[in-house]
Amino acid sequence: MKFLKIKNHLIFLDIDGTITADNSTEIENKMLYFIENLQKNNKVYLCTNSRNHYRNQQISKITKLEILKTTPKKPSSKILNSLSTVEREMPKIVIGDKFLTDRFFARNIGAEFILVKRILSGNERFLIKTINFIDDLFDFSFGNFLKK
Ligand SMILES: [Mg+2]
Repeated sequence: MKFLKIKNHLIFLDIDGTITADNSTEIENKMLYFIENLQKNNKVYLCTNSRNHYRNQQISKITKLEILKTTPKKPSSKILNSLSTVEREMPKIVIGDKFLTDRFFARNIGAEFILVKRILSGNERFLIKTINFIDDLFDFSFGNFLKK
């Protein structure tokens, strides 16, 4: 996997749709292995707009990753204010499934962006399905303009 070659980066890893289905705590072994490898050579933070703190803590325990606790949400670059100067100067990567949050966050902080194939449970609430649909439309319409 080419992912495993990433070294010395500050990585913002989204949760919902990226490492697990929306609001879930189930993470596949393959994903855990990927995260474990990513952590070996990089500083990785979980970065989510989800306010389900209990669930987020569970994900943090399972992945052994720290959650970036910030009041500003993605795509705000103010998220960086909670990091140390050393971290802020590291090359950055955002890994996520959404155009309107993750990709714009990457742009706002000058990070590379890795779009993942969204993990779905098939039981997403109507609201989540609608958000995903709109987000995919944006990605389809404008995604190519943002690709480097
Ligand atoms: Mg997501």
